[in-house]
Amino acid sequence: MRAVDLVGRKRDGGELTAGELRWLVDGFLDGAVMEGQMAAFLMAGVLNGFTEAEARALTAAMVDSGDTLDLSGLRGPTIDKHSTGGVGDGTSLLVAPLLASAGAQLVKLSGRGLGHSGGTLDKLEAIPGFRTALAAHEMLRIAEDVGCVVAAQTGDLVPADKALYALRDVTGTVASTALIASSVMSKKLAAGASTMVLDVKAGDGAFMPTQEAAGELARLCVSIGADAGRRCVAAVTSMDTPLGRGIGNALEVAECVALLGGPPGGRLATVALELAALALAEARDGDVDVVRGELRGRWESGAPLETLARMIAAQGGDPRVCEDPWSVLPAAPVRRAVPADRAGAVTAVPARAVGELSVILGAGRARKDDDVDPAVGIELRVEVGDAVEAGQPLAIVHARTDGDADGAAARLAELVAIGDDAAPPPTVLEVLRSSRS
Ligand code: URA
Repeated sequence: MRAVDLVGRKRDGGELTAGELRWLVDGFLDGAVMEGQMAAFLMAGVLNGFTEAEARALTAAMVDSGDTLDLSGLRGPTIDKHSTGGVGDGTSLLVAPLLASAGAQLVKLSGRGLGHSGGTLDKLEAIPGFRTALAAHEMLRIAEDVGCVVAAQTGDLVPADKALYALRDVTGTVASTALIASSVMSKKLAAGASTMVLDVKAGDGAFMPTQEAAGELARLCVSIGADAGRRCVAAVTSMDTPLGRGIGNALEVAECVALLGGPPGGRLATVALELAALALAEARDGDVDVVRGELRGRWESGAPLETLARMIAAQGGDPRVCEDPWSVLPAAPVRRAVPADRAGAVTAVPARAVGELSVILGAGRARKDDDVDPAVGIELRVEVGDAVEAGQPLAIVHARTDGDADGAAARLAELVAIGDDAAPPPTVLEVLRSSRS
């Protein structure tokens, strides 16, 4: 086989076989396929498209490029959850303990925030002492004892995705539904769960700007998961506006603790409950409405909050965060309120711009190796659809310096739009599941 021939076939709109794709992936990792050849192949695929069979084959080749986690020793059902990335999206902190409290086991390998979207590891690391770098045997032990564990992906899992993503990032070849699906699903399949729920975001603050594009990505991911013998369900959820009210790491942990301390209300809790219900129903062959009712009862019993505290303790963090978050979490030294300049209804809180503002404050990273400041961020006091009075606080900026606070408050006053009337935005737009016999 010659890389130049495979690149040429893709350039001319042809299809590659599973064996040819595997040869390319393996060759790229061992140096037999040059970086320039792989970049040309990826660009030809971005422009001409990949077939579903190619996406499945690429995913399988990527999974086989490294180690996989073996969860067969866990009692199960083993469930994993993935989000394509959003703003104020602490759903993992809610879904993991909720499902664990219902008897499922989750070994959730998460990422860090990049650009305007946050990352679960950064959020959890706001808790003093919390460790995300765990060996596989530690993850399995905590999943067995507590029911859930959230850790960083180890370097041995899917090395092909790491290498390919780095190349895609600098060659303008990220934007392909098939490449995104194979990247996401290779990591999920390697992480070993028998059931997975995908939260594919659509809208202003998402990778996929439209519901149609997000739906296509969700459908392909579910198809790849089913082809690999896993139970897979995806929800397309709205990311036009931040999901939760906290945008910043400690703020988001505090918000999730508060949500687990009461009945599941508001957009963030609604999406978390729905993702958990979809996943558990998929794992059990159950009815989503029945499972949602069961999970709501568990939520209200306080069991998931206790599970979260146990997971935090097992990972070295201070579990008192689940009783009195601000006795443990780092707080920013400067707070600045953003008052409404008129009465009316909140018509827009744009997710991307608000996420970018939180990065400027230091809550996220513009580049992969930037540090994050766990204390800073934005606390929204209103949501789209809320009625407001003139002078009422729309948000509180949590900042490191007065200058940062003033700048962010002025920008937020521009971003939170007030009009005459507005309806609350939708949460779950569409659900896709693998067809099971
Ligand atoms: N997230 C991933 O993990 N992979 C992609 O290709 C894009 C987003």
